[in-house]
Amino acid sequence: MNETDTLTIIKPDAFGAGKAGHIIAHLEDAGFRVVAATVKHLTLDEARAFYAVHRERPFFSSLVEFMTSGPCMPLLLRREDAVPELRSVIGATDPAEADEGTVRALYAESKERNAIHASDSAENAEIEIAFFFAGTERLRA
Ligand code: ATP
Ligand code: MG
Repeated sequence: MNETDTLTIIKPDAFGAGKAGHIIAHLEDAGFRVVAATVKHLTLDEARAFYAVHRERPFFSSLVEFMTSGPCMPLLLRREDAVPELRSVIGATDPAEADEGTVRALYAESKERNAIHASDSAENAEIEIAFFFAGTERLRA
């Protein structure tokens, strides 16, 4: 079994609505194991840095405002084919387009307030894991 790691964030909308436990249960039922977790209220600079790839997009300032609007919950997750499997489990960016039963179909409010982030490549997963969990021991359960 070739397990790999990825990074998710339960975003401020879902975390603030008390959905973190539901979402973690959903991810565990989909075969992911939690390797590390934290609760963090991002600063403006942190949110800008995390989503720097989108800095030229028209929604960037609104996205940064949303991501700093309250605490969020970054988690380091592990399973086989973790990156594509997590993207599949969370669903499309816009919940109106997300497949039935995906995390975003169940918990997202809008294309921006969409409950959860997931890394989009193995390379970005390692960059994003380092962003939140640099120096954290990755236990092998
Ligand atoms: P994430 O990177 O958070 O996992 P994603 O990869 O599905 O989401 P991206 O295109 O990377 O989507 O956009 C990052 C985030 O920016 C989205 O999750 C959403 O919160 C916000 N966003 C994306 N497109 C729009 C838009 N057109 N209007 C408002 N917010 C948007
Ligand atoms: Mg993305």
